[in-house]
Amino acid sequence: MMRSALQPQPLVDTSRDGHVHTFLCRHASGSMEEYVQAAVRKGLRSLTFLEHMEVKIRYPHRSWLEETDFDYYFAEGERLRQVYQGQIEIRLGVEVGCNSDAVALLREKLQERPWDSIGLSCHFYPHGDQHFNLLSKRPESLGQLAAIGADTVLSWYFATLIKAVRNLPCTLLCHLDAALRHMPGVRFNQEHRQQIHTLLATVREQGMALEINTSGFDYRGNPFPADWIITAALALGIPLSPGSDAHRPEDVGRYFDRLPAYLEALRP
Ligand SMILES: [Zn+2]
Ligand SMILES: [Zn+2]
Repeated sequence: MMRSALQPQPLVDTSRDGHVHTFLCRHASGSMEEYVQAAVRKGLRSLTFLEHMEVKIRYPHRSWLEETDFDYYFAEGERLRQVYQGQIEIRLGVEVGCNSDAVALLREKLQERPWDSIGLSCHFYPHGDQHFNLLSKRPESLGQLAAIGADTVLSWYFATLIKAVRNLPCTLLCHLDAALRHMPGVRFNQEHRQQIHTLLATVREQGMALEINTSGFDYRGNPFPADWIITAALALGIPLSPGSDAHRPEDVGRYFDRLPAYLEALRP
């Protein structure tokens, strides 16, 4: 049926999952093929692997890929493209973690491979000679960040993202407000809100999309980012891209059925 001229365009294409991980990152389960099969079963038209890249992060538990892992990733991705040709589009992307002390190296690594999508995140807070994990629920991580203070950490987090959006060649901003997602009682103050508006304006300037990350439904009953941020992004004309952030095959496309109605209510 033709879409009538009076009907607004849908705000997201829920036939495309733009963000999944695999066993390669060491904190997800499932092979690349198991994610492809899960996506085919769910009737998705497109699946984007967005594997973790971090450089010069000093953290005791590696949760990202090394260069040899990315070699395997591209070889296996190519193989799967042949096997599943005509059934589903398979895209090979990267979720790059910003590190202000390694911008040149990050740019170099991003230029080395033909990514279909480059998602930007910020997972680690530098402190002395180590990094603290902003998204972990480990008690020691939460304790370390609480000692610095949530307001201070969040001001740094948004300032770092704004710089990274300007300095790294990314296509997508991932889970914008997920930092400190496991810390109870975290609220954004006036400064943080102002920073988020600057961040969105910068995303728009760079022609990037904003991820609607449906893992948030599991953490807090609604996606990342919060509703007012989505409304502000839509007012700026920033395209939205849905991602399940699946870390196990059964989570591919999670809650995508809820997105059309949820987002429609946020139209500015
Ligand atoms: Zn992950
Ligand atoms: Zn992430």
